[in-house]
Amino acid sequence: MNEIFSRNILIDKIGLIGQKKLYNSKVLIAGLGGLGSGVIANLTSLGIGTLGLIDFDKIELSNLNRQFIHKYNDIGNLKTTSASNWIKSYNPKIKTYIYNTKLQNDDCYYIIKDYDIIVDCFDSYNSKFLLNKVAIKYNKILVHAGVSEFQGQITTIIPNITPCLNCIFENTNNLDNYNIKGIISPTINITAAIQANEVLKIILDLENTLKGKLLTFNLTNYKLKILNFEKNPNCLTCKSI
Ligand SMILES: [Zn+2]
Repeated sequence: MNEIFSRNILIDKIGLIGQKKLYNSKVLIAGLGGLGSGVIANLTSLGIGTLGLIDFDKIELSNLNRQFIHKYNDIGNLKTTSASNWIKSYNPKIKTYIYNTKLQNDDCYYIIKDYDIIVDCFDSYNSKFLLNKVAIKYNKILVHAGVSEFQGQITTIIPNITPCLNCIFENTNNLDNYNIKGIISPTINITAAIQANEVLKIILDLENTLKGKLLTFNLTNYKLKILNFEKNPNCLTCKSI
């Protein structure tokens, strides 16, 4: 096992102790589309030992410009099955738990209770705000990301401590046209890689995470910004706990 991760272990900030911590961590990946594909590839490569996989969707031809863990022959199959098969073929020692379900409300403690960190790879605003509510309600760390065309954003939410997604972008209705915008693979893969790096930094307690900060980038001009946010004292999601 250690030989697979020998190049990780050579890094001072990881080492054998850090690699064991990664292996003993449990991360829930919410959404197995483009972001989910990139997050899965990076978290398995980092050696996270247990991955939970949530999605209810089946693979379609239009997914294949970015959802690279799903293949042409998987079209019509469940994304949870395809993702789990990809992980097993990459490293059979990684445990996977699949939840072939659509989150409809915040009553899902049975899914998230065993995980240390949730990674938001959903593709619709409504699902993202619901996942944010779930993380706040059950006190779980959430690594949020959003992508559109050439732009990506990432932040890490620590319930009670950092602003939540609703503190930063107040949720309004009619935001759910988000997932019909265009998107390219480079935007998604960079965003997913940063989400995975956040997971690594949180597990190993490294400095300079995106807790309370929103990283945004634009691949048309390569501009990258890190914005600071404060908790919104009137945030209904934060107030609800
Ligand atoms: Zn909030």
